[in-house]
Amino acid sequence: MRSSDFVLNQTDGIKWLSFPSLEVYPFLVHGFLIRSPNLSKDAQGKQAGNLLKKITSQERFLIYLTQTHQDECIIITPGDELKESYRGDAILTTRDDLFISVWVADCLPIFLVEKRRRVIGLVHAGWRGTLMGIARRTLKKAKHRIGSKPKDFTVLLGPCIQRCCYQVSDDVAILFDKECVNRDANDRFTLDLVCANMKQLVGCGVQEDKIFVVDMCTFCQYELFHSYRRDKDQSLRMIAFMGLR
Ligand SMILES: [Zn+2]
Repeated sequence: MRSSDFVLNQTDGIKWLSFPSLEVYPFLVHGFLIRSPNLSKDAQGKQAGNLLKKITSQERFLIYLTQTHQDECIIITPGDELKESYRGDAILTTRDDLFISVWVADCLPIFLVEKRRRVIGLVHAGWRGTLMGIARRTLKKAKHRIGSKPKDFTVLLGPCIQRCCYQVSDDVAILFDKECVNRDANDRFTLDLVCANMKQLVGCGVQEDKIFVVDMCTFCQYELFHSYRRDKDQSLRMIAFMGLR
């Protein structure tokens, strides 16, 4: 596991992060829309579309997922008819005529890149999805449907609620590997989503030195991120996006 830097970009007033560990792939467009002032929920999707158009000079379909905290992975390959939205919590594609996205506010966004076959993927992993093995399932699908092996992937674990802040009940804590559960100052359990997903990725064959982690907490860093735990129903989402150039 390697720690990843980030770059804070601003395009037409929209703030977004990019990650140097993924910028080494010239065929890839990626980013993470963060908290922007005066942004409404309805405007968020539109802003993502505008931003992508601006930074790529291309107008393409931006695919959304109706995320349900389950383990369904969508795959879109050449020839598939496109819909704007799919039900699932992970998405893979080899197509260069669309952008993919997942929306998060504390859950872990996982970016996947496989250079040889030009495969990209995004995963939305909260505690339920992590427990169900959403990352593992996505990598399995990439192997079966595209032929990409886990060891061929570079993986970036984006900003999420970290072990400092992610309190969970005893019932949830007990479901996870002990190494990924800690106790906070008040002796309550906290879950380390990064640890749990790292173990899952390495367990299915991703090389440790190809996993990058962005060490930022969505709950602590309120000036940059939305947080569902912190802001409750008022919380907007961050948008992780990727595309092939
Ligand atoms: Zn924190």
